Amino acid sequence: MKPNNMELNRLMEYVEEMKKARGFDVTTLEQEFLLFSEEVGEVANALWQIIKAGEEADDQMRETLGFEIADCLIYLLSLANMAGIKDIEGLLLKKEEINTHRFETP
Ligand SMILES: [Mg+2]
Repeated sequence: MKPNNMELNRLMEYVEEMKKARGFDVTTLEQEFLLFSEEVGEVANALWQIIKAGEEADDQMRETLGFEIADCLIYLLSLANMAGIKDIEGLLLKKEEINTHRFETP
């Protein structure tokens, strides 16, 4: 089982282009990380709403959580861009190869 067709590198390019187009390409790496951390808090809040709702959790709550997870993904890819990472997709596959061997049963 090996993932493919992720197009993560294309998404990373999109994030870089989108930031420039919106004038969001002015943050330092440190500021970007703080903004990412804020988004992680938003994921926690959205998840907490679903946990509290229990069986009453609805699609609106799941959509909100999905949006916040999407924000986190955008910031993660932006951080990778800003740190000079060029092939996040290749690194993901390489790391998963490492993880596969790390957790394989003898
Ligand atoms: Mg958000």
